[in-house]
Amino acid sequence: MRKEPPRGEEVAVAAPDCYCGGLARLQTSWIESNPLRRFFVCPKSERGKKGCEFFVWVDIEMPPCERALMAWLLRTKREFEDQIGRARAREKLWIALFISWAFVFMIWFGNVV
Ligand SMILES: [Zn+2]
Repeated sequence: MRKEPPRGEEVAVAAPDCYCGGLARLQTSWIESNPLRRFFVCPKSERGKKGCEFFVWVDIEMPPCERALMAWLLRTKREFEDQIGRARAREKLWIALFISWAFVFMIWFGNVV
């Protein structure tokens, strides 16, 4: 039986050993100077901690025009996500206002009738 081909980040890259003996961890860069470029790091490296400082790029550097396009796409995506977040917050506010007014009317009519 054939194995399913790996998806996304796992495509055809075998993890090398880092300097402290563990298998290096595959990550993807999201910074604008290297968007969507994969790299291996020490599995012990996290925010603030560097582990054994093992670091190696997996993908070659993008040509400048593609890098600029990718950076623009990522920025646009972030802007849309912000707009959606703000729209959702507004929607929640309107729903809360509607419910509170409906409540006020119910109490008011309850007292009148
Ligand atoms: Zn290491």
